[in-house]
Amino acid sequence: MITVNFHGNIAELLSRKSEKGPLVSFHLDRRTSIKDLIESFGIPHPEIEEIVVDGKTVDFAYIVDDGIQIEVFPISVKSNFFKPSLLRPDPLEFHRFVVDINVAKLASKLRQLGFDTLLPRNCDDAQLAAIAGCQRRILLTRDCNLLKRKIVEFGHLVRAESPNDQLVEIIKLYNLKNKIKPYSRCFQCNGLLESVAKEAVLPFLEPLTKKYYHVFHRCLDCKKIYWFGSHREKMDVTLHEILASC
Ligand SMILES: [Zn+2]
Repeated sequence: MITVNFHGNIAELLSRKSEKGPLVSFHLDRRTSIKDLIESFGIPHPEIEEIVVDGKTVDFAYIVDDGIQIEVFPISVKSNFFKPSLLRPDPLEFHRFVVDINVAKLASKLRQLGFDTLLPRNCDDAQLAAIAGCQRRILLTRDCNLLKRKIVEFGHLVRAESPNDQLVEIIKLYNLKNKIKPYSRCFQCNGLLESVAKEAVLPFLEPLTKKYYHVFHRCLDCKKIYWFGSHREKMDVTLHEILASC
């Protein structure tokens, strides 16, 4: 008999519920890695911080035997993604994201706060997972099976429904509150914004914009021009509301 105890908020992802809640017991009928075993219960491996077998920490490749006790601990606000661990020996250097199309609005909100965030379109799950793995980005999605792909090391199954609540969830989980740089990145293409003199962008401005706005930024990549007037005031209010709940 194998017993698996799913701790914290990963218990809510269990696809096979047991009468004992997060504690699952069963007989093993096949040879399998602990990663595959845990994922067969609906928990994608990027959601896991630590696995302990009979009191000893193990990695994802560990082959399970009948008669063991497994404790599975979730990624949480206490997790340090910048320090090597047994499950992730090659830690992150930066908080950079790649966002699945099923949480697309979250991508533009992360960009509004200055976070490097890709939103690849017209690519399949394999390509999306490869971007996360090869570029060492955190994959944000609502697709559990996408996160189970081996190449994905860092990722999170977004729980909240509304884009603002999703943003709060991500800011809290990755402790991003002190790393926010609002309006430093292009909402459309993720490029960095530079300040530009009004004279430099004058030919591209509508008459009313010319008249009322004096501070301009331009995307270094797509060249989109930004002026943060009343639109920015509205965004600032939303931003303050979001940060107040983080
Ligand atoms: Zn741009």
